[in-house]
Amino acid sequence: MTIITRFAPSPTGPLHLGHAYSALLAHDLAMARRGTFLLRIEDIDQSRSRPEWEEQILHDLAWLGLSWPQPVMRQSARLAQYQSTLTALWHRGLIYPCTCTRRDISAAATAPQEGAPLTGPDGTIYPGTCRPVTPQTPVAPLPPPGTALRLDMRAAQSTLADAALTFTETGTPTNGHAEVIHTSWDDVHTSIGDIVLARPAMGTSYHLSVVLDDAAQGITLIPRGADLFDATVIHVILQHLLNLQTPAYHHHRLIRDDTGKRLAKRDDARAISKYRADGATPADIRQMLNLTRH
Ligand code: GLU
Ligand code: ZN
Repeated sequence: MTIITRFAPSPTGPLHLGHAYSALLAHDLAMARRGTFLLRIEDIDQSRSRPEWEEQILHDLAWLGLSWPQPVMRQSARLAQYQSTLTALWHRGLIYPCTCTRRDISAAATAPQEGAPLTGPDGTIYPGTCRPVTPQTPVAPLPPPGTALRLDMRAAQSTLADAALTFTETGTPTNGHAEVIHTSWDDVHTSIGDIVLARPAMGTSYHLSVVLDDAAQGITLIPRGADLFDATVIHVILQHLLNLQTPAYHHHRLIRDDTGKRLAKRDDARAISKYRADGATPADIRQMLNLTRH
């Protein structure tokens, strides 16, 4: 099987060291096995995405020595695909509209069972206020974009029967061998819950778009930060519901600043453009990240 990896930046800030690590790793993993490295622009959050950031990110990636096939996939061009998938899930009774405000959710979520977490990879674990008591297949049309839609995890579980929630993790640094990660439905219900699959302002969500786009691009291995590890089972569930292949995942260590803090978009001091302005070469960046040359 030929390997296809990707780097999927959101143009909401500069490319910093952490992003450079993801991008170089995705590129190197593909090249090491004569595969393909693809780029995708994740610009569904139109309130935060800026063309200037996108331009700078592309420029920084090229400066780092990366190249990729054209055309580059952009999420903003795929809203119709997201919408038709939501329509299909809606008619299967797998999603429901949610009218709760943030405040409603935290008020209802303040008394979880002992030991159960309050937040998961998609934020506060939804207490289920708007979930239909018995999932039913709606005859009404999908509510228009502007409505929050949640994935009914219980309905998903009954649809999938005993489908195994597993994926292959190749990023485990301890032994360098692939590991099969398994999650139980009990864990999904207590630690994740009914996630938002369409946000009012976007008409989609990160989870829905990333799963559809990775499948559309034929991605076989996804290198990304360890902060997304807990969200991966959400993607695996969506892949099963939508009849898509589950790729392998390579969750990598997070690049921290000198004080051990995680880098965030606002840490402009770690922007690749800043290093370049200070005279660093692409080889210096690779060395800082402990990535050998390719
Ligand atoms: N656009 C996402 C980010 O920048 C990509 C996440 C992923 O690789 O799945 O965090
Ligand atoms: Zn609700």
